[in-house]
Amino acid sequence: MLARTGVVAGHVASCIVAAVALLVQKFGGTSVGDADRIRAVADHVARTRRAGDQVVVVVSAMGKTTDELVRLANEVSAAQPPRELDMLLTTGERISMSLLSMALADLGVEAASFTGSQAGIITDTDHTRAKILEVRADRLREALDDGRVPVVAGFQGVSTERDITTLGRGGSDVTAVALAAALGADACEIYTDVTGVFSADPRVVPSAHRLARVSFDEMLEMAATGGRVLMLRSVEFARNHRVPLHVRSSFTWEPGTWVVEEEEGMEQAMVTAVTHDTSEAKVTVAGVPDRPGLAARLFRGLADRGVNVDMIVQNTSAHGLTDISFTVPKTDLATSVEVCDALSAELEATGVTSDSDIGRVSLIGAGMKSHPGVTATMFETLAAASINIEMISTSSIRISCVVRDSVVEDAVGALHTAFGLD
Ligand code: ASP
Ligand code: MG
Repeated sequence: MLARTGVVAGHVASCIVAAVALLVQKFGGTSVGDADRIRAVADHVARTRRAGDQVVVVVSAMGKTTDELVRLANEVSAAQPPRELDMLLTTGERISMSLLSMALADLGVEAASFTGSQAGIITDTDHTRAKILEVRADRLREALDDGRVPVVAGFQGVSTERDITTLGRGGSDVTAVALAAALGADACEIYTDVTGVFSADPRVVPSAHRLARVSFDEMLEMAATGGRVLMLRSVEFARNHRVPLHVRSSFTWEPGTWVVEEEEGMEQAMVTAVTHDTSEAKVTVAGVPDRPGLAARLFRGLADRGVNVDMIVQNTSAHGLTDISFTVPKTDLATSVEVCDALSAELEATGVTSDSDIGRVSLIGAGMKSHPGVTATMFETLAAASINIEMISTSSIRISCVVRDSVVEDAVGALHTAFGLD
């Protein structure tokens, strides 16, 4: 790992180190949004090659292509067999990969495009949200050995049943990190339309600043709580395989944010970032008898329907009855309510209610572990802004509060100021 970090640092210092680095460069939808953008990306890849580094490129679909394909599917079908939906959605990335390969050819760079399947990305059979099981990267290695630049379609793979799958929205990040891990790349560069990871969403907090460096654990918490820059699973993958990530802009090309392993003995900021998210809804199952097995029954039922439960709060029981509240993505709300209604008799619950007007604000910082009082300051700050806290959850480096969605942005601004991040 030390040697690897050395090469990365060398690359940052514009390649003082002579060793050839292998970089995976992933370009998101806006980065390849039109012909000019594609040529600009080709130019950057060509420059990276001229600097002596090896490159594997991963591309997303151009601009809003994936949304457009989803819209078309909605227009022709209510059923939308997941196998066919995946086949449709993977076409977006194929357009980008072939166009970029052509643009590279014009610059005299030998490139070859590969679908996820051709790149050896083997997934499970869970269409529209498949997980990568294995990467058989020999074709990419051969291309690299031949001096070519492989350009891989992100977001897709081939299942163990030999069907084309997609990795879930935003999945090109996962493709990039998985390839970087499989190829032992020195870094995975994620090019996007922002200059890095910020201390809060700059559209909500204009005084938010770019973070030069965050740890995998912090980035995981940020991705899980609304930091939209990186897809959560890609960060998990990067942490598990120790792939250094560099999130940066394909518009300014300036150095962005490094996501790396936490360095020991480093003084940590108490709070690194404030994130927020309004994509979840809350479900409450009220009056459940306080008996072993009932929560297990409820959450097994939800899990069996593929519902992704996030925060869970259960109160200490009053008179032997307890309320269980949990949050889920709004897209899973209807299924969740269905499951709860169906189980409500068996759980002897007195009622099931749901609320989609919630938002969550979170504080993230590795330094929280060693600084007491962060929670108190957070609650005091929200109280001073007359913001009511509806649910609370914590990890060792995160504190989250559910509030009304209408006041989420106020909460973000107040906390960003209170913790000295402005
Ligand atoms: N094109 C896919 C999406 O829009 C995957 C990606 O961009 O990462 O979700
Ligand atoms: Mg994306």
